[in-house]
Amino acid sequence: MKKKINIQFIVIAVMAILVTMMMMSIVYYELFKKQVQEDLKVNAYVLKNTDINNTLGMDMLRVTLISPDGTVLFDNDAEVGDMGNHADRPEVREAFEDGCGEAIRESKTLKKNTFYYALRLDDGSVLRIAREAKSILSIFERSVPVTAGIIIIMITLSIILAHFLTNNLIHPIEEMTLNIDDYSMTPVYKEMIPLVNTIRMQHEDILKSAMMRQDFTANVSHELKTPLTAILGYAELMENGIVKDNEIKRFSGEIVKNADRLLYLINDIIKLSELDDTKKTDNFEEIDLYEIASSCVDTLNVTAGKHEVSLSLSGRSIYIQGNRDMIAELITNLCDNAIRYNNRYGWVNIYIYEENHKAVLCVKDNGIGIPREHQDRVFERFYRVDKSRSRQTGGTGLGLAIVKHIVALHNAEIKLKSTPGAGTEIKVIF
Ligand code: ATP
Ligand code: MG
Repeated sequence: MKKKINIQFIVIAVMAILVTMMMMSIVYYELFKKQVQEDLKVNAYVLKNTDINNTLGMDMLRVTLISPDGTVLFDNDAEVGDMGNHADRPEVREAFEDGCGEAIRESKTLKKNTFYYALRLDDGSVLRIAREAKSILSIFERSVPVTAGIIIIMITLSIILAHFLTNNLIHPIEEMTLNIDDYSMTPVYKEMIPLVNTIRMQHEDILKSAMMRQDFTANVSHELKTPLTAILGYAELMENGIVKDNEIKRFSGEIVKNADRLLYLINDIIKLSELDDTKKTDNFEEIDLYEIASSCVDTLNVTAGKHEVSLSLSGRSIYIQGNRDMIAELITNLCDNAIRYNNRYGWVNIYIYEENHKAVLCVKDNGIGIPREHQDRVFERFYRVDKSRSRQTGGTGLGLAIVKHIVALHNAEIKLKSTPGAGTEIKVIF
């Protein structure tokens, strides 16, 4: 970029210098021509009013007198007899017609121009004054060394200046690049603000996700450790023969329960990492929310029965673009929570309906509710409101994290409303 800007600066400068020089030469040449003509005119008038034959001190000028029929009567530079009829010369003809005329003729070598001014005298003859002057070409030629010198100096100056200007221009960008992490630094150029903001945002995101991953790993290890320690403890006791025969069944039961929990946890972790991998709209299809919910209800009725909670579904078929397995997982997780964090003889209702042209899935219960201060956090991985109760119910704190993931993959929105002691309502709007 630096090189490019530098080159562009130099190109602009060189072009400006060359064009200016050329224009100036043309303008000066035009002025010079005008001046020569003007001088000729003055000389012609002076001669007209004095003695035409007195051309003394005018050796640079050629004076010719032409009779009305075009024959040359006098010339201070050539033999009159050698000169042909001059009536056809443009400046002479013009003078015969209009009283005065002028012309410029190039000489054969192109190095010189001859300027003519012709004036009709009172007796009808025409007085013509001519002067040779350098042509634009020879002026150019003569000025080549000086012009070239000036151009070289100017170009050198502009290269140096371009270098400084470019550095000046680029410096704030380099500075910003080096200090992208320093939030007290704001870009000098307002055009850079979006870029810097995007980079900073991405930077933050990367840091955040790295931290989350670290957190997650720590949590996973911790969560896996608990059931494994229990299993190991019970197994060791049994191995050492300390356990009485009548207690073997209870101990084995504990091992099975903890192994179950371990499996459950690992399954959830696998699900989460699968959701992380899934390409957004991969294998999305037209699916019926109501139909999926109804098959989930069939499966969940067993759990609901165990908790003595009634489970019902209402609404009608509504189609959305999505993944059948993910949506089934989402409904199952929401209903599972609504059943587990409920009271005896409580109820759970699933509603499927359309609102503002959007499909809505709503899971409502009259369970224990979620206190205000926990409502924002329940979607975090491993977050449980009441750890002891959750552990006792076998919860890992990953259910709603999985839900949140699925909602995001479906470009949907999730809303939670809950009153402790009264119940919870979770709405997913597709
Ligand atoms: P998992 O679903 O992985 O078995 P979990 O149920 O503990 O474990 P989440 O489903 O993520 O984890 O829920 C997080 C926490 O939010 C739960 O521990 C519970 O305290 C609270 N919670 C979730 N749903 C409800 C609900 N319907 N009523 C009351 N509390 C709820
Ligand atoms: Mg759950």
